[in-house]
Amino acid sequence: MRIILLGPPGSGKGTQGDLISQRYRFPRISTGEILRQAVRDRTPLGVEAEAMMNRGVLVNDDLVLGIVRQRIGAADCRSGYVLDGFPRTVYQAESLETFEADRPERALDFRVDLPELVKRLTARRVCSRCQAVYNLKVRPSRQADICDACGGPLIRRKDDEAEVIAERLNVYQKETEPLREFYRKKNVYFAVDSQGLPKEVFKRVAFYLDGVLAGNEPRGKRGDDHL
Ligand code: AMP
Repeated sequence: MRIILLGPPGSGKGTQGDLISQRYRFPRISTGEILRQAVRDRTPLGVEAEAMMNRGVLVNDDLVLGIVRQRIGAADCRSGYVLDGFPRTVYQAESLETFEADRPERALDFRVDLPELVKRLTARRVCSRCQAVYNLKVRPSRQADICDACGGPLIRRKDDEAEVIAERLNVYQKETEPLREFYRKKNVYFAVDSQGLPKEVFKRVAFYLDGVLAGNEPRGKRGDDHL
């Protein structure tokens, strides 16, 4: 099973992806995290991607496709995986099909209204050492600006600054939103109401995925909408 997480920045893909990964034992693959690691390591990939990421625009499709193709070929992906932040364009989605045509898949689209997205992104902090993610409002660290897990300093992602947030949301709408139609047409699309606390959202996700994996897929009123 391939589980694709759609939804704008701040919609909870990373948080829900981790919870899905724990419950179903599929690795979570975040292209954003792989790219940020490459930037920190100053690899050629990181050097090429950094400027685009800081501006909030998409990195070249071929760079990202190379990363994903290699990662999903690893042994831990054999029974399934969760894709967080990929595909982000129709071209990427079509390329993914050519990598692994026969794998069953579902696309979960995390829906959050715009004011809430901006609030979440503005309040997001990450550990500069272990990359754990916090939120000043709903998931603060025990000690201000210090990571609970490793004691590292918490920082704001460069692309969580106000102007970059606006650009990322713009790019999402233009480049990534068409994927809704793409996956709807394939009949593997499911919209998740992602307002509320992570554990409330995860209840909706788990109800759906438990059904899918048991061969008894829950359907919304219109076949593809919230339960
Ligand atoms: P994320 O952590 O998913 O918000 O991604 C952070 C940044 O990494 C994005 O704003 C893009 O610049 C880049 N990025 C991540 N995934 C992709 C992708 N699938 N295609 C192109 N660029 C990506």
